[in-house]
Amino acid sequence: MPHRSGFVNILGSPNVGKSTLMNALTGIKLSIITSKVQTTRHRIMGIVNGEDFQIIYTDTPGIFRPSYKLQEQMVKSAYSALGDADIILLVTDIYESPDPSREIIRKLGKIEKPVLLLINKTDLDSQGAVNRLTTAWSGILPGAEIIPVSALKGYNLEKLLDRIISLLPESPPYYPKDEITDKSERFFVSEIVREKILINYRKEVPYSVEVEIVSFKESDEIIRISGIIYVMRDSQKGIIIGKQGLAIKKTGTMARMDLEDFFGKKVFIELQVKVKKDWRNDPRMLRQFGYI
Ligand code: GDP
Ligand code: MG
Repeated sequence: MPHRSGFVNILGSPNVGKSTLMNALTGIKLSIITSKVQTTRHRIMGIVNGEDFQIIYTDTPGIFRPSYKLQEQMVKSAYSALGDADIILLVTDIYESPDPSREIIRKLGKIEKPVLLLINKTDLDSQGAVNRLTTAWSGILPGAEIIPVSALKGYNLEKLLDRIISLLPESPPYYPKDEITDKSERFFVSEIVREKILINYRKEVPYSVEVEIVSFKESDEIIRISGIIYVMRDSQKGIIIGKQGLAIKKTGTMARMDLEDFFGKKVFIELQVKVKKDWRNDPRMLRQFGYI
């Protein structure tokens, strides 16, 4: 059989389950997941290799109306995933009402590529409700193939994988067959720390934070990591650190436990907090953090 390979890009609104799907399809936790919107800020690539195929998935930030430069870049990078895909997975869920006026829907209606529209979180609703949504969506995007799934429970993911493989173009692999992602170890460390910040702090705080890993030293027994948590204001610095440093200690401990799982090794992690005024609107900082 000829070898097949291609780019499968995952798009959709915030919180519909794009990152959960990406992790389920790749079998690794490449993307962080929380119940909060805008958890994913970058495009993240995850590669799945078979004997005669290679699927290059891309998870993207959600598509929403941006209100500062960081968000503009996030949405821009999501839209860029329309252009370089061989197959598009548009993720929606049982809560999102089918709306033909959304920009992404209008763009997808005109695109010449295969679009699989995945209705996610079907574990939370009845078959009847899912059928009604399927009918509504097929009226809006007649060219798309609709597949109800549950990324969390794994429902219909085998079928989805088979459909993806059958739609892949004939091509040699784009990446070495032992590669699993385009992102560095430092990137995953900073994402895991950011995930713990999303979990541990409330309101605007997690959205004002960027994590930079400044050193990553691996020996046979242990990985020593140091990172900087950037915030936008002095008051946020106090919140991140917490009374007697308890909040940042908790964040560091939770991150360390996940990192030890991820790397299969002992980890020591040290976190400092610095203020960078309004970094989310500063093109130089956004470039430094890899958003531009
Ligand atoms: P994203 O913003 O589109 O990447 O969404 P996430 O993957 O971060 O998921 C958002 C929330 O939805 C998280 O709390 C997930 O656990 C939850 N979620 C994702 N997929 C499913 C699913 O199939 N069923 C249920 N019940 N929850 C899900
Ligand atoms: Mg996500």
